[in-house]
Amino acid sequence: MYSDKILNFVANRFEEPQSRTFIPFFNAATGEALGQVADSNAEDVARAIEAARKAYPTWSTLSAGRRAEYLENLARLIEQRAEDLALAETTNTGKPLWLSRRTDIPRAAANFRFFAQAASQFFSECHPMPGMAVNFTLRQPLGVVGCISPWNLPLYLLTWKIAPALAAGNTVVAKPSELTPLTARLLCDLVLEVGLPPGVLNIVHGRGVPCGEAIVQHPEVKAVSFTGSTAVGRRIARICAEQLKKVSLELGGKNPHIIFDDVDIEEAVAAVVESGFTNQGQICLCGSRVLVQSSIYETFRDRLVEHANRLQVGDPLEEVHFMGAVVSQAHLEKIESYVALAQQEGGRVLCGGHRLQPEGRCRNGWFFAPTVIEGLRPEARCNQEEIFGPVITLLPFKEEEEAIRLANFTEYGLAAVVRTRDVGRALRVSERLQAGIVWVNCWMLRDLRTPFGGVKHSGLGREGGFEALRFFTEAKNVCIRYA
Ligand code: NAD
Repeated sequence: MYSDKILNFVANRFEEPQSRTFIPFFNAATGEALGQVADSNAEDVARAIEAARKAYPTWSTLSAGRRAEYLENLARLIEQRAEDLALAETTNTGKPLWLSRRTDIPRAAANFRFFAQAASQFFSECHPMPGMAVNFTLRQPLGVVGCISPWNLPLYLLTWKIAPALAAGNTVVAKPSELTPLTARLLCDLVLEVGLPPGVLNIVHGRGVPCGEAIVQHPEVKAVSFTGSTAVGRRIARICAEQLKKVSLELGGKNPHIIFDDVDIEEAVAAVVESGFTNQGQICLCGSRVLVQSSIYETFRDRLVEHANRLQVGDPLEEVHFMGAVVSQAHLEKIESYVALAQQEGGRVLCGGHRLQPEGRCRNGWFFAPTVIEGLRPEARCNQEEIFGPVITLLPFKEEEEAIRLANFTEYGLAAVVRTRDVGRALRVSERLQAGIVWVNCWMLRDLRTPFGGVKHSGLGREGGFEALRFFTEAKNVCIRYA
C-alpha cells in the first residue's frame, strides 16, 4: 500500500527531488522498509519557497472566514479518513493503533478546526488617547513561514504548526521528520481534495541537513516554527539570530512527576504509568523523573513495578498492547545505552531494562520493555538528559521544599505534574516550578486555547490559541491624531 516513493509537494504537484535520491523509511514494529522519501536539498527547498511566495498575496488577502473554510474542510476530510490515517501513522511509527485512533488523528483534525475558529475570533487592540488620537493594532501575516516537526507525533505536530500559520494568512513550507513522512504524504491528497490554492501549503521531505536547515537559512522565510531536540533547536536559534528572524522553539523535556503522600496510591501509580509509558515514553511531555514522598516511597515503588511488569507490549495493531515499538533501531540503541549508563551510575533497574522480541510478524521490530530505575543521584546523567523512551527514574523526597528543588534541578522546563489532595500545596508548588505547563492531578489534559511551551532549555515562545496566531503575525500600531 505504501510502496510508492514519497515526493515533495510543491504548488499542489508532486515533484522528484533534484538529486533524484531517496531515504528509506521503516515500519518500526516489523523493522521492514516501508518506502522511500525524497532526500531534498536547498534547491528543492528554494522551489517550494518560491511557490509559497507566489501564493502569498492572494492567500493573505482572503478573508479570515474564507481561509477558515479551507481549514474546516481539511478537518472534516481528516475525520472521514481517520482510519486510514491512523493505520498509516501506526504502520510507520510503531505506536499502538488505539493511540493513533484516539489521539494522533483526532487531534490533527482538531488542530485545523480549532485554528479555523480561532482566526475568526482573533482581534486587534485599540489604545485611545482621549481628545487627541486613537491607536489601533493591525496584526498582519508574515509571508512565507517554515514549519519543522519531529517523528513522535507526526501528523499531530505537523498540523499544530501548519494550521495557525495558514489561518493567520501565511503560506507555508513544511518539513516533517524523514523517519515518519507517511501521514504528511496522505495529508497532501486531502489538500488537493479541498482545493487549497497551489503554493499555500508546500511539503518538502528530507534530512535536517541539508533540507530543514535550508528552510531556516532562506531569507524569504520570515519565521520558523520548530519542534524537536534541544541541540537542533539551539542550532536553528543561532541561524535565526543572525538574520533577526522570528523563531518559535518547542524542545526537549525531563519532566518531573511529583507524588505527595496524601494521594490515592493506586490512582497515582496508574497515572505515573500512563505519563511515563504512553507512546513508549516518546512524548516531550512524558513524566520521566518520578519524585515520591519518602513516607510512601517503598509502597509506591513496589506497586509501580508490579504495574509496569503487567503492561502489555507488542504488535501495535493489537488492542491489548499498551505499548508498541520505538521509532527506530538507532533510537532503541540509544535507550539501551542509557539503561547501561544508569547501572554504571549506581542505578538499580527494578523492571525492564531490555529489548523485547514479540512472536510473529513483529519479531524484528524495535521493542523495549517498560523500565523503572531507582538509586540514581539527582545529578546523574540519566536524571538530567532526555532519554525519550519507556524509562522512568524514581527519586524520594521528604518535604515540599525538597520536591520543588529536585523538580527544578534540570536544564529543562517543559512540563511538570503535581499529585496531592491539598489545594494549597498544589498552588504553592505550581507557582514555584520552573516549567511552561503544570498539571495538577492530571496529565496531557489539553485545552488548545492555553499557551503551550517550555522554559529554560525546553524552548522559546509559546504555541496554542492566540499565542500561535500572534507568533504567525506581526503587530503594527497605527496612530491617528484627530485633535
Ligand atoms: P530532531 O531535533 O532530531 O528533529 C526534529 C526535526 O528537525 C526533524 O524534521 C529533523 O529532520 C529536523 N532537523 C534536524 N536537524 C535540523 C537542522 N539542522 N535544521 C533544520 N531542521 C533540522 O528531533 P527528533 O528526534 O525528530 O524529535 C525528538 C525530540 O523532539 C525530543 O527531544 C522531544 O522532546 C522533542 N519534542 C518536543 C516537543 C515540544 O512540544 N516541546 C514535542 C515533541 C517532540
